[in-house]
Amino acid sequence: MKDERDEAGFVKDIRKQSVDFPGWYQDVVRKAELADYSPVRGCMVMRPLGYGLWERIQRALDDLFKQTGVENWYFPALIPLSFLEKEQEHVEGFEPEFAMVTRGGGKELEEPLVLRPTSETMIASVLRNYIHSYRDLPVLTNQWNNVFRWELRTRLFLRTMEFLWQEGHTFHETAEEAEAQVLEKLECYRVIAEDWCAIPVFKGRKSETEKFAGAQYSMAIEGIMRDGKALQMGTSHFFGQNFSRAYDLTFTGRTNELQHPYSTSWGMSTRMVGSIVMAHGDDSGLQLPPRIAPIQLVIVPIFRSDAERAQIEAALAPVLRSLATIRVRADWRQERPGYKFNEWELKGVPLRLEIGPRDLAKGEASLVRRLDRVREPVKLGELERAVPAMLESIQTAMLTRALEFRKAHTVRLSSLEEMVRHFESSTGFVITPWCQDAACELTVKDRTTATTRVILDEPAQGSCAVCGRPATATVVWAKAY
Ligand SMILES: [Zn+2]
Repeated sequence: MKDERDEAGFVKDIRKQSVDFPGWYQDVVRKAELADYSPVRGCMVMRPLGYGLWERIQRALDDLFKQTGVENWYFPALIPLSFLEKEQEHVEGFEPEFAMVTRGGGKELEEPLVLRPTSETMIASVLRNYIHSYRDLPVLTNQWNNVFRWELRTRLFLRTMEFLWQEGHTFHETAEEAEAQVLEKLECYRVIAEDWCAIPVFKGRKSETEKFAGAQYSMAIEGIMRDGKALQMGTSHFFGQNFSRAYDLTFTGRTNELQHPYSTSWGMSTRMVGSIVMAHGDDSGLQLPPRIAPIQLVIVPIFRSDAERAQIEAALAPVLRSLATIRVRADWRQERPGYKFNEWELKGVPLRLEIGPRDLAKGEASLVRRLDRVREPVKLGELERAVPAMLESIQTAMLTRALEFRKAHTVRLSSLEEMVRHFESSTGFVITPWCQDAACELTVKDRTTATTRVILDEPAQGSCAVCGRPATATVVWAKAY
């Protein structure tokens, strides 16, 4: 095509992933129209493509939650400061991140209201009114909402002052039941990450240093991004009776004694959209896994006259009807085909259908995969079967590719020197035996900037890679977002 140089210029606007990963990320998020900065410092505007991804994740996750008996609630976004002060440990971990409302109706408020950074305190305070007896348990709540953290350094989707998430909070009669809940929701997150977003994750417990303030323990899923850094993609916390005790939440047990329920909380946020960008994108832009892509198939008709356009439209009508279950966009704009190809590649649409007069003469169209740009001619009558099958194979191929990438960026090491040497020249996951002493985490962080991500569910073997004492865990280290 004669316009090739101009068309190449379109993607030149994106910085190279291998040269400047953060710059590349920012260019892709903004130029693919996922999100943009807003008039409010640190807050973003999610554009339809970015919000569309979140919507797909939200629906899939909400379905999974409901299958486990969770019900959606809504609680106020404003929380009296005193609620947060009750749980001292909670406040210490959070106070610098609070945004507070101190005036309303033209007057100073008697008590400042905090824009929720998370809702544990509000929910525990409210549920006091509904939980009286063991018969009222368990209570499995979830809410889809926005939360606020006073972040100084922000990055679209990864860290913003306001973001969207779901926060689940559950209350149980026994510790066993609450702990099972923690694992069950972590598994929901793994399904979303791996089966929907095609991002393989390590699942496990957080160290004492890395756990959520106030939790007895925290669990998380961690994925690897194309720059070899880890991203925490979902967390699930076991609070024991900490919160119930702090908020005076009690119930009458089976033996007529007053007890505190055991509680959990778990969350996944719009950060997931950032993870999809960073786990699959390349120098041409986004690559969206078909299951969550807001547009799964883009049709680019190639025509020079109104007569040709009419012919293609007529041929496509039955095709479009046969693809009713697929999310399709037909691009009839008056632009060069090459320009459209680049734009839809930038936006990560997994499959493209090209059709022009020559294809039409043969009764076929070409399907092109965003994944590897493999082109395949398909008879028009075959598209009904070929498109869903190809989308399914792209989904599988994306997970396989991501798994191979993680495998190539994961090593098992057994000494601090090896770890230091490793992180000097590369990133990725490092798995070692560990004694679980925070001092060893500090040493590694000082020398490499890497932190523990999750403790794997596998037996500890040998001695701690850092201090040489007997290991009590097998842990994954990485430089992280
Ligand atoms: Zn150690």
